[in-house]
Amino acid sequence: SREIRLAARPHGAPTLDDFALAEVELPDPAAGQVVVRNRWISVDPYMRGRMSEAASYAAPYEVGKAMLGGAVGEVVASGDERFAPGDVVLHGLGWRDLALVPADHAVAIDASRVPEQAYLGILGMPGLTAYAGLVEVAPVREGDVVFVSAAAGAVGSAVGQIARQLGASRVIGSAGGPEKVRHVVEDLGFDGALDYRRGKVRRQLRELAPDGIDVYFDNVGGEHLEAAIGALRLHGRIAICGMISQYNATEPPPGPRNLIRLIQTRGTIRGMLVSDHDHLRAPFVRDVGGWLADGRLRYRETVVEGLDAAPQAFLDLLDGRNVGKMLVRIGE
Ligand code: NDP
Repeated sequence: SREIRLAARPHGAPTLDDFALAEVELPDPAAGQVVVRNRWISVDPYMRGRMSEAASYAAPYEVGKAMLGGAVGEVVASGDERFAPGDVVLHGLGWRDLALVPADHAVAIDASRVPEQAYLGILGMPGLTAYAGLVEVAPVREGDVVFVSAAAGAVGSAVGQIARQLGASRVIGSAGGPEKVRHVVEDLGFDGALDYRRGKVRRQLRELAPDGIDVYFDNVGGEHLEAAIGALRLHGRIAICGMISQYNATEPPPGPRNLIRLIQTRGTIRGMLVSDHDHLRAPFVRDVGGWLADGRLRYRETVVEGLDAAPQAFLDLLDGRNVGKMLVRIGE
């Protein structure tokens, strides 16, 4: 089998030289293990953090070892009575074509009503992130104006649409480039979207939400966060989900200069980690599964073919070349 290893820790933006493709001999599964042929592997922004040495909520990847990440595949050999060949499972040993997975870490998925790879996107970690952020971290209330950055991405596209279902009266997104802005408004039904590459976020946000915003779901940090604080209304709420504009930074950038507005607005800014919200999984599956089934929620994928292309897919994700969830499909 083949796996992608971390070859070197990036300083600043990662490059293809930081990854290496390696051949490995996979043993037969022992008791309590299954062998999974991965069909879909996920590349996600948090992986940039794990390529670095600094300790964070997820342990750093080890140089010279295979990288880890979400994957969906088919069980091809099983040493555990809970799984049989042919079962489709979600697990955490992505970045390889064949994976020897502890059965305790594999979850059987039901792909009868949605494509199996949805469990890496809208019905998986990114979808739950959006849901938990709006239900618990920066709760959306009836009539709220909601702003979300990276609005054409996996999490952001779900945030805007879920916010609407939870009662938001107006949903505004930010994305890079006219095609994404068009997609967010026309395909996903946002009320407005700004192109942050075209001009100041602050000015564009003021045009789209002249009376301010109640909730900001932050995927980006930096200028977006400052603009959102500037637009916050009384008792406004900000969920800090991601700060992708800073993941390649070699020095911590200066913080928002306008935190003083939190006094006037009595606003809250709260960080979040999706893994703290596992208790929401049942209502999440019920609500988001239901909205998908009746067409009230839509999602896109950007699919790259072949394990060899996974490192480039990851670099492209950080560069914003994806619309919706970025995925790598591995053929037979
Ligand atoms: P996306 O599908 O949104 O892909 C990343 C997007 O980020 C790109 O498409 C790009 O879109 C945008 N981007 C990249 N650089 C910049 C920049 N400098 N300024 C503004 N936008 C930029 O990824 P995900 O949906 O998987 O993740 C979105 C965010 O959510 C990330 O910050 C991620 O780390 C975070 N996250 C946090 C979790 C948590 O538990 N806290 C869980 C899951 C995700 P564009 O072309 O519009 O610039």
